[in-house]
Amino acid sequence: MTRFITAAVLALGITALGATAQAQDKGTIGIAMPTKSSARWIADGDNMVKVLQAKGYKTDLQYADNDIPNQLAQVENMVTKKEKVLVIAAIDGTTLSDVLAQAAKAGIKVISYDRLIVGSPNVDYYATFDNFQVGVLQAQTLVHGLGLDAGKTGPFNIELFGGSADDNNAFFFYDGAMSVLKPLIDAGKLVVQSKQMGMDKVATLRWDAATAQARMDNILSAFYTRRHVDAVLSPYDGISIGVISALKGVGYGSASQPMPYISGQDAEIPSVKSIIAHEQYSTIFKDTRELAKVAANMVDAVVSGGKPEINDTKTYNNKVKIVPSYLLKPVAVDLSNWKATLIDSGYYTAAQVQ
Ligand code: BGC
Repeated sequence: MTRFITAAVLALGITALGATAQAQDKGTIGIAMPTKSSARWIADGDNMVKVLQAKGYKTDLQYADNDIPNQLAQVENMVTKKEKVLVIAAIDGTTLSDVLAQAAKAGIKVISYDRLIVGSPNVDYYATFDNFQVGVLQAQTLVHGLGLDAGKTGPFNIELFGGSADDNNAFFFYDGAMSVLKPLIDAGKLVVQSKQMGMDKVATLRWDAATAQARMDNILSAFYTRRHVDAVLSPYDGISIGVISALKGVGYGSASQPMPYISGQDAEIPSVKSIIAHEQYSTIFKDTRELAKVAANMVDAVVSGGKPEINDTKTYNNKVKIVPSYLLKPVAVDLSNWKATLIDSGYYTAAQVQ
């Protein structure tokens, strides 16, 4: 018996050793993230590290403070170190062509993470959410809040915010939203009093809350001193927070001057709290745990010379080629389902959003 146990323990030990040796052989994966100023990217980085390490990889996780040269230097460094695969969520999707050419020369594969890298042939795969659908959902929540889907005809005043114009996603969000809103604008049920429409007019560089707040301040003082704004299309929770500050600054958020319906994205904790407090109306939940899994599976397939699982081969043209993609499903969140979606799924604890 003792001998059997000893043998079993030995065998286990050897297997464990073998597993460690194998794990060490799998190499380092470079993960380039844009910024820590938004909680979603911190979650993305943490989840990527967790999933990749569980698969036996080492990880080199870098954040670039939303600074383009900084991210470029980080990716260059990853290439110099000959890391196995690069997973990149670009700050500016257009600025990485040269370094990705070097990566390709060194045989390093590149996975575009959440945001598409454009203008380079050296992007192998793309892991993301259905970004057009994100915009559709954002707009649908506003339409629902206003009651336009229940027979109300308005006209309601709406203002539009877009994301950063150097982020390919921003156009998908805007186009998705406008696929819902434009017909209602054309029908006169929604009115953009500022007439500021189109990404050239509504984009928000670097998704910056203060920039959005300043633009909302201007819109409110120029077009709404005698009118009420009923809805605001916001593509991201940070922007929603900026817009809400501007609105509060001129007295919105009371019974006589209720908050407009305001969308968002990422289900970041301050915005979940804001939804619970009846300020922000909705957000879009994109489960970064799932995105990390998809991206890590892509890494694993690429390293082992296999083919990653993809579910879209036509949507994401990066101006050089169509990048094979895996699209996850975004989920709209409001007062009616935040608990089920965010707490019951274990994404947040109840205490985090209190
Ligand atoms: C992401 C969004 C995020 C935004 C700002 C986009 O590329 O897809 O989830 O809200 O960047 O960080």
